[in-house]
Amino acid sequence: MLTVEQARDSVLERIVRLEPEPVAVLESLGCVLAADVVSDIDVAPFDNSAMDGYAVRSSDTAGATDDAPVVLRVVDHIAAGSMPQAEVGMGEASRIMTGAPVPPGADAIVMVEVTEGLEAGGSTGGTVAIKRPATFGDHIRHAGEDAHAGETVLHAGEVVNAASIGLMATLGTTTPLVYRRPRVAIVSTGDELVGIEEVPGPGQIRNSNTYSLAAQVIAAGGVPCILGIARDNAADTRALLGRASEFDLMVTTGGVSMGDFDVVKTVLQEIGKLDFWKVAMRPGAPQTYGTIGGTPFFGLPGNPTSTMVGFELFVRPAIRKMRGFTALDRPRVTAVLAEDARKKSDRRYFMRGVLTRREVSEPGAPAYEARLSGRQSSALLTAMHRANCLISLPEGLSSVSAGSVVECIRLDQEEGSA
Ligand code: AMP
Ligand code: MG
Repeated sequence: MLTVEQARDSVLERIVRLEPEPVAVLESLGCVLAADVVSDIDVAPFDNSAMDGYAVRSSDTAGATDDAPVVLRVVDHIAAGSMPQAEVGMGEASRIMTGAPVPPGADAIVMVEVTEGLEAGGSTGGTVAIKRPATFGDHIRHAGEDAHAGETVLHAGEVVNAASIGLMATLGTTTPLVYRRPRVAIVSTGDELVGIEEVPGPGQIRNSNTYSLAAQVIAAGGVPCILGIARDNAADTRALLGRASEFDLMVTTGGVSMGDFDVVKTVLQEIGKLDFWKVAMRPGAPQTYGTIGGTPFFGLPGNPTSTMVGFELFVRPAIRKMRGFTALDRPRVTAVLAEDARKKSDRRYFMRGVLTRREVSEPGAPAYEARLSGRQSSALLTAMHRANCLISLPEGLSSVSAGSVVECIRLDQEEGSA
């Protein structure tokens, strides 16, 4: 049996990053940029007002107060989106709105709150009283302040977030180049499975793994392709596994244990290549990895929690690597175990748990407490549902007592970087 690390490393060294492709800007959210985004314009493109108010010559406003305001003639009214029609001369001002171009002659904006429209309400042809002195440059946003033409604004290798999308929109980058999302084929196996819209008959259960897996694929940024159910016979299994080369990755559930009808391994060996099939872990020891026609293949065990934990430990990092990420694993924290846990000593356990913050009295002590989120049978999905972490209990121990410091994988947090 391989250790979890051996299995993970041996999977990841075979996985390669997919090629970049241009996508519609909004679809790039969460993807890794494959090329720099360089500005072809100054942002902002022109000097403009940061306030609704009056564009003035600051020297005209010296000494202005509430009691002794400076009165200026209003020569223009500039809305955002329109161009100034007049130069601001001595003793003059132009009414101006936020985002409108600063008119020639003006060197500062006085905000409307410290002015009073007199004649004609301070519009073109009237006058305005300025009650505070303006300083050169006040409330003017300068051309190129956010980015200069020719400047690299976003860098290859960074993850696109909402602000990146806004910047690309500003720069007119309609189709950024990002590493492609893998198309992940999902196959469930089992004679006992029926569709989720059906009422299971005697001996039957609904096929839940296809859905939990597809959801995990989406959450990892892949594109799930549901191929359906392969019955527990070689012909059926061969028919669906034989489609692997249409996809970037194939994931199956079930049919990889020691059962008389577990044919996935046999078919994998026949039409592809089996690299390993046992990992010293619980849940989910019969993790199977190989390739079919060059497509990486993960045969996850069928128990619902084993499927999900296997995906989390092996498939999710593989999908992230394909997407160009280098940070492949979720954050880990240390926690104080709140209850005794028993285990077999020959394998690593990943127990479903709930992390909560704890009072830390001693410096450096773990900031979290971890307790089990329910009964730990791998057939039970409810404890997985309640869990926000996997409590990792090392091989070599047959029990871990309350109060021990344990490592936990946070299921509720992402890597936070590329
Ligand atoms: P297997 O790995 O095929 O021996 O399956 C182990 C257990 O998981 C059995 O109890 C199966 O009925 C169950 N199981 C297998 N596939 C699925 C599935 N797609 N959805 C829900 N349960 C499943
Ligand atoms: Mg089965």
